[in-house]
Amino acid sequence: MTARIRPDLASIPLYVPGRDFPGAYKLASNETTLGPLPSVAKAVAEAVELAHRYPDNRSTELVAALAEALDVPAEGVSAGCGSVAICQELAQITCVAGDEVLYAWRSFEMYPIVTQVVGATAVTVPLTEGHVHDLDAIAAAVTDRTRLIFICNPNNPTGTAVGQRALESFLDRVPPHILVVLDEAYFEYQRFPEGDRPDGVELGRTRPNVVTLRTFSKAYGLASIRVGYAVGDPAVIANLGKVHVPFSVSRVAQAAAIASLQSQAELLERTDAVVAERVRVRDALVGAGYDVPPSEANFVWLPLGSQSADFSAASAAAGVLVRPYGVDGVRVTVGDPHENDAFLEFATNAASRRF
Ligand code: PMP
Repeated sequence: MTARIRPDLASIPLYVPGRDFPGAYKLASNETTLGPLPSVAKAVAEAVELAHRYPDNRSTELVAALAEALDVPAEGVSAGCGSVAICQELAQITCVAGDEVLYAWRSFEMYPIVTQVVGATAVTVPLTEGHVHDLDAIAAAVTDRTRLIFICNPNNPTGTAVGQRALESFLDRVPPHILVVLDEAYFEYQRFPEGDRPDGVELGRTRPNVVTLRTFSKAYGLASIRVGYAVGDPAVIANLGKVHVPFSVSRVAQAAAIASLQSQAELLERTDAVVAERVRVRDALVGAGYDVPPSEANFVWLPLGSQSADFSAASAAAGVLVRPYGVDGVRVTVGDPHENDAFLEFATNAASRRF
């Protein structure tokens, strides 16, 4: 007889990561192609020397470095085993069974999973026709049971972003007892006009119900090392410690993140290069007849509807792995120029085909 598992788990989808196989170009998981920043290798090697000792459970040195860089109190920063772990921690500290978690759809696939894992109910609001967050509709969907709102900005998988003024006006309409998570996993890739650059940390300075999530997995190139962080009101952040899996941010992860923070000039150079490629890739796709919303992240979205699976399969057969999302669309990471050329060659040839 097998052990009894909670029956509602059957309806929780497994997280399905982007595929990989040797020899293919992998543009399926929004990683950087360039590897970790140069300051990381030595720090990791030194950290490994102490691999037999538990790490600092509170990531004190990393938290202090982040607090200084962001000009916030250290008590308002918490590190996690990737920002995905903090998404789960935030659901755990806000929701009990029957509470509601509100988010746009499509958005990051982990929101429905963490919602169901804590026994809460997902309330979703469709993106606009332009694949952007409909903040008015989200504000209007708040109920007495809403405890948590996820706003993914820029949005994964569409790459679209909302500006700071739109966020301010949205936050003014959300009751202050509801925690609003601004998930900024792709923050470093944003190039917004001066004065409207979305920045959750700034919004959180005067709004204690805002928590901002960022990660070292994307622009910083540490996806495999697993470290992200939350910034918010110290009274909220303190609770994350209660549900945090002890030692889940390894000594190596803490050292790599601290070292990464010391390479800001290199980071900017790298993100600028990706942004230039993002413009080139989108222009080429639009020129070939695809409908591609403007992206503020390191990926672009092709809303191919029912053709999404066939397009992705054909791209994989051509040696470029991209990520299909049901019957909604395909997300393609912006890689280096060589990888992007390989995808553009496939996509421009495929533009005239029907899948
Ligand atoms: N938020 C968003 C929007 C993401 O796309 C991702 C990664 N796919 C994450 C959070 C989690 O990243 P990590 O756990 O690697 O920090």
